[in-house]
Amino acid sequence: MKKLIFFVLVLLLIISACASRKPGASELNKDEKLNVTVSIASIQWLVDQIGGEHVQTQSLTTSGDDPHTYEPSPSQMISVADSELYFTTGVEFEDVWIPKFLDANSDLQVIDISTGFERISMADYHHDHADDHADEHDHDHGGSDPHLWLSPQAMRQIAQNVAGILESADPGNASAYQSNLEKTLATIDMVDSQLNQQLSQTVRKQFLIIHPSLGYLADTYSLEMIPVEVNGQEPSPTELSEILSAAESYGINTLFTQIGNNPFNAQTLAEQAKITSIIEIDPMAYDWAGNMLFIGESLQKALN
Ligand SMILES: [Zn+2]
Repeated sequence: MKKLIFFVLVLLLIISACASRKPGASELNKDEKLNVTVSIASIQWLVDQIGGEHVQTQSLTTSGDDPHTYEPSPSQMISVADSELYFTTGVEFEDVWIPKFLDANSDLQVIDISTGFERISMADYHHDHADDHADEHDHDHGGSDPHLWLSPQAMRQIAQNVAGILESADPGNASAYQSNLEKTLATIDMVDSQLNQQLSQTVRKQFLIIHPSLGYLADTYSLEMIPVEVNGQEPSPTELSEILSAAESYGINTLFTQIGNNPFNAQTLAEQAKITSIIEIDPMAYDWAGNMLFIGESLQKALN
């Protein structure tokens, strides 16, 4: 019953938000902002860089959230109902929630901003290295890797797509979007070349991480990511011992964890692997450039 009342309340709030909503994108006045909702805070950063003062953005998730299990709050539902654009990148919760957002706001334009970028599949040490066990673990592994925003290459493509979309939604400010795009691409290039410098000459190439968020990064800079999770779950004792012995054979001395959600105790795991250093990264941060440079520095430290 409580749940029902809650949903009725949310519905009423959405209806009133819709009634007062601003005119659609096609009727934008010169200084009216485009309302854009995105799934991931780093993508919000990107849209802010390109849209500047002409956009009003919100991200449904941010530092500490888990996009693999996220559910929107009632106030986020209301803001989505007031948005003109929703930019998707293929994170899990979009599959479940986008249809509900469209129910609440049929004018919402949902656009995949990752078009043109080639995805890799989700890494998992057990499946990449232990083919001989394939028969005992023949569960289907979760498809393509959703952590696009942690790749400068993906961000470059996404930036171009976003600029194109903003220009067609708001042609009056096209030149601003173009010049912001150029600045943003320069920032992305700077991050890319920094990472290249930090990661191209390391002693080791393998790093150990609980959640496989750095697959694109590893791919781009020729590193090998060894995730502890198997299909988003704690590994079985057999899987864990394989992972730990791999870590030992590569001389790995650092375990990467993430802010917020870690499915099991990193400290215990580190002790088992005789690892002395734990570095916490934030795959969900807003400040993309600063965050990527921090991740690069941390990896450089761990690999030397
Ligand atoms: Zn993730």
